[in-house]
Amino acid sequence: MTEVLNQLFIGGAWVDAADGATMPVDDPATGEVLCHVADAGPKDARLAEEAAVQAQAEWARTAPRARSEILRRAHELILERTDELAHLMTSEMGKPLAEARGEVAYAAEFFRWFSEEAVRIDGGYGTLPDGRNRMLLSRRPVGPCLLITPWNFPLAMGTRKIGPAIAAGCTMILKPAPQTPLSSLALAGILKEAGLPDGVLNIVTTSRAGEVCEPLLRGGRIRKLSFTGSTGVGRILLAQCADTVVRTSMELGGNAPFIVFDDADLDVAVDGAMVAKMRNMGEACTAANRFFVHRSVAEEFGRRLAERMGALVVGPGTREGVDVGPLIDRTGRGKVEELVADAVERGARVLVGGRTPEGPGCFYPPTVLTDVSPESRLMDTEIFGPVAAILTFDDEDEVLRRANDTPWGLVGYVFTQGLDRGLRVSEGLEVGMVGLNTGLVSNPAAPFGGVKQSGLGREGGRVGIDEFLEYQYVAVPVR
Ligand code: ADP
Repeated sequence: MTEVLNQLFIGGAWVDAADGATMPVDDPATGEVLCHVADAGPKDARLAEEAAVQAQAEWARTAPRARSEILRRAHELILERTDELAHLMTSEMGKPLAEARGEVAYAAEFFRWFSEEAVRIDGGYGTLPDGRNRMLLSRRPVGPCLLITPWNFPLAMGTRKIGPAIAAGCTMILKPAPQTPLSSLALAGILKEAGLPDGVLNIVTTSRAGEVCEPLLRGGRIRKLSFTGSTGVGRILLAQCADTVVRTSMELGGNAPFIVFDDADLDVAVDGAMVAKMRNMGEACTAANRFFVHRSVAEEFGRRLAERMGALVVGPGTREGVDVGPLIDRTGRGKVEELVADAVERGARVLVGGRTPEGPGCFYPPTVLTDVSPESRLMDTEIFGPVAAILTFDDEDEVLRRANDTPWGLVGYVFTQGLDRGLRVSEGLEVGMVGLNTGLVSNPAAPFGGVKQSGLGREGGRVGIDEFLEYQYVAVPVR
């Protein structure tokens, strides 16, 4: 592997934190320290803000084609370095190498998609209804942005925000999660190599998220926050944005229902469940959190799912043949253990898994629980681990009501062979996205996002760039 980047990236230069602070990055497979990276404080945040503000005007004037080509080159560089980036990601985050390679491709695709969108930012020209005025409409970058990303998709959550910001002509400060700073720093190196001008992207890695981000959001110079993380932190940030009326895009938590009707193809449903539950070891906001299975097929579905889950190989993500890596850290694993213990106390049966292995690393086995009580804590808590909790239902109205009985609304999964029922239930779910007979919805070309307390705005798709653009309307009288 080439040299691991471990400094802050400010104004196009690699620099240490002003006070020289560093923080450790751990390997979740061993619990050992991988390396140290710069630990930014408020002073570094001010320098990054200054760099982003200074670079904004010229970057906004840069030709869309030039912005597009930087993204296109970066897309290619990411793909060329798939193995290197995948190893880096697995070492800091834990996911198996095959999944890490998949994420590299997914992450790169955001850059290709937004390189294509950068040159299609449109405007308008027309006569207003009164016939006495013309309307000229143009679209402009919203301005310097703060991007805050989580640890579960260390590369793709970055490109999903950086891609549209570059395409729109915004400068930015990226604050990655403290658990996974290395992938973001590698991405900055690639963008610099692809020709991104100094100051357009600045990266502050920090263990002091609040101290670094709050002054930026309250300072009046950052015009946009794009955040992916928990609903709790999202609420705090929305409050901070209120005072200076900072525009926001919020991708928050989920509590996805996974509904299997009695007319579903069970092979398809079990395949879908494996993806919706086990992608990223269940550490995804799109992960199926509550399995509602029709009473008449619940036993068979549970049996088949337990068989598949039990056959998965758990181990370090770098080892050949491993399907399930470690969870991100001891805190994450502790939460999964508590949720399972609570469900079991309330009467759930463990079909497979459910026991924390001895030894180093944050491993947790794929687990299937049936007869889960609706009172269990995991019904309204994101599990963020490889645990499938199965409940039964009797009819369509009932399951819709129960599926919607949550403050979240990111994604839902519906399995049925009936077209009418599939569409009716999809329309009835209070969610931003539905997988109808599929366990995977994420795609750079589709608008990703939720309703209710799962967030505001959409990322990806044709609308992804809109989050980083403002309209300006010019009125011109007809004379
Ligand atoms: P998780 O529980 O999955 O780690 P968080 O919402 O805590 O999710 O973290 C998502 C991102 O938000 C991370 O980059 C984290 O450092 C950041 N974050 C956490 N607290 C704050 C805060 N008070 N201000 C700004 N960013 C924060």
